Amino acid sequence: MTLTELIPSLRTSIDRLPTPAIWPATTRIPPTGDLSVGGVALAELAGRFGTPTYVVDEAQVRANCRAYRRALPDVEIAYAGKAFLTRGVVGWIAEEGLALDVCSAGELAVAMAAGFPAERVILHGNAKSPDDLKAAMQAGVGRVVVDSLDEIGQLGALAAAQPVLIRVTPGVDGRTHAAIATGVEDQKFGFSLASGGAEEAVRRALAEPGLRLVGLHCHIGSQIGRVADFELAARRMVDLLDRVRREHGTVLPQLNLGGGHVVPYLAGEAEFDLSGFADRVRGAVNYECARRGLPAPRLTVEPGRSLVARAGITIYRVVTVKHGTHRTFVAVDGGMSDNARPALYGAKYAVRLVGRGSQVPDTPVTVVGRHCEAGDVIAENVPLPGDIHAGDLLAVPCTGAYHHSLASNYNMVGRPPVVAVRDGAPRLLVRGETAQDLLARDVGV
Ligand SMILES: *Cc1c(COP(=O)(O)O)cnc(C)c1O
Repeated sequence: MTLTELIPSLRTSIDRLPTPAIWPATTRIPPTGDLSVGGVALAELAGRFGTPTYVVDEAQVRANCRAYRRALPDVEIAYAGKAFLTRGVVGWIAEEGLALDVCSAGELAVAMAAGFPAERVILHGNAKSPDDLKAAMQAGVGRVVVDSLDEIGQLGALAAAQPVLIRVTPGVDGRTHAAIATGVEDQKFGFSLASGGAEEAVRRALAEPGLRLVGLHCHIGSQIGRVADFELAARRMVDLLDRVRREHGTVLPQLNLGGGHVVPYLAGEAEFDLSGFADRVRGAVNYECARRGLPAPRLTVEPGRSLVARAGITIYRVVTVKHGTHRTFVAVDGGMSDNARPALYGAKYAVRLVGRGSQVPDTPVTVVGRHCEAGDVIAENVPLPGDIHAGDLLAVPCTGAYHHSLASNYNMVGRPPVVAVRDGAPRLLVRGETAQDLLARDVGV
């Protein structure tokens, strides 16, 4: 079963949308044709907060957290915060009882500023800086996932009995985009299982008095749709747990099965089979442990995108419509600075006119951004009403993950505000960036 099926109360309300799984479940289309999310019309948000604006539906994030906890009641759910991190989001994650993955002192600072319990924080990163490690020790993070032999020494020198996990590269190809395939051999993340690097890291961590090795971690990439890939990684990791016990007499109590679960961005794309994942991965771990006489480890999973992607919508205003020789370009007031994913991964998005209805039939257009690159495209060949014109509002769904967090100041364009919606009320989480903000760091002439 998928997330949408696991949240039945939220399902019927969005059946009228052409593509329910890519819009927040609170999305409504009133007879006037004006789309609302969390009880607030998107056009009203555009009027109040300007454009572009990131909107995030709090109920959807919380519902996703609950669906994971229900599907995996005995498994720790750690939100991979790099997908979308603000103090507000951290607060929801804390209240929903999840753990939190951070990758830098900056992400940790956001978590601490939101009052997130440090013992539920897990620090990741293939090249953590001395400042990252010091900040983590100062905050008292629960676990650090160590990623290199250098780090074992560096962290060992700073820490006293710091619980750590070893990041292992299990040699599983999650068949995702190369930029987010992190489980295959010969890459920058983790210690290789095949070369014996992982076992060497275990030896070194066990011998380091500043560290307390509590488990193993693996991460096979993002946008992984095949449960079988997680199962294979789990089997290989249990085998390594068994080898650690045989070589060192140490039973490691934790196994962190990272890897991002696929989310649909377009109509018809498959959703992640969460209950299948829960059954098969736990089944594989239990079976492999039982046949070796190994106690089953406590499992952790680390969804990022699948907790927040669908909760987010970006609202843009059309600046101009231009007719090329073959294509119609609809240019909006944002682009690759607020959505880097098309340029980074060739990501595709749906687009919808909001704020007014139109009886004019749809025509295929290319929605482009305002930046000085031809590759600054938001969506290619998408249908919009033929009377689309300057001043119209467009909504792009599924922008909750890796939008705000990957935003840049390219062309010195200020990053958009983040507005949360819930029960008919908007709440500003992050204000929009001003020219003054941009100049504040430019301190020399
Ligand atoms: C990014 C990340 C994830 C989550 O990936 P998503 O695709 O956002 O779900 C999980 N674990 C680790 C270690 C990560 O770095």
